[in-house]
Amino acid sequence: MFVDYHTHCDSSFDSIAPMASMIQASIDMGMDHFCLTDHLDFDVRFSRLCSSLDPKAYIRRQEEQIARFPKADVRKGIEVGVQPHLKDTIRDALAGCGFDFVIASLHYIGGQDPYFPDFYDGLSNIEVYRAYLLELIDSLTGFDDYSVVGHICYPSRFVPSGKKVMAYDDLRDVSDALLRLVVESGHGIEVNTSSYRTHGVPVPGFDYVKRFRELGGEIVTVGSDAHRPEDMGRYFTEAVEGIRDCGFRYLASFRSGKPEFFRI
Ligand SMILES: [Zn+2]
Ligand SMILES: [Zn+2]
Repeated sequence: MFVDYHTHCDSSFDSIAPMASMIQASIDMGMDHFCLTDHLDFDVRFSRLCSSLDPKAYIRRQEEQIARFPKADVRKGIEVGVQPHLKDTIRDALAGCGFDFVIASLHYIGGQDPYFPDFYDGLSNIEVYRAYLLELIDSLTGFDDYSVVGHICYPSRFVPSGKKVMAYDDLRDVSDALLRLVVESGHGIEVNTSSYRTHGVPVPGFDYVKRFRELGGEIVTVGSDAHRPEDMGRYFTEAVEGIRDCGFRYLASFRSGKPEFFRI
């Protein structure tokens, strides 16, 4: 089974790849299926990056483009940017849309964007990671309108210096609080392979995936976070191998918001 559950196209502010080119690439690569997951972010006034779309128009666009490839199995997803004060906003925006799969990702911490180096001024990396996890816990507590948590350990992709891998052992208390929340609410995590290119490990690292398993987690997806066709499916094999080593025997895919499991 070869799938990709995190991809972006020109429906996202940070990609120029036509949606059809991503679908075609999934066919050319022999993927069993893949999922479109463009950005939906609210309240980004504090960021120099802008990302938003109309989810109802977006899913209509997905349906139109998917209809052009009748033999492809393309799932309709979205990556929604969570923040503690946006639960009702996101719930209302997604209501009735009918997405197969929703990634909940934290891209901003306390109203600041960790993508930019000045975010880290005066903070140790551990302080940033802790603040990120606390903000993510706050954003997901009482919020159930998602399938998996996206790229846990996200700021480690951007820290300008020091230890660039966010280790579970350095943050056990807050990491466990997050993973328990995800397990107990019946959700999953993704293993995002984009950081293999720069850091040699996925986000989250396998130490988090292993702990998720120990705490009873069952739902894991794999996504490349590709913003262009040639990055789709990258490091899928390595990710699956690592996930197996963490004790998982199944990966999840999603249809109509429900997980389906396939053996790895
Ligand atoms: Zn993201
Ligand atoms: Zn993404």
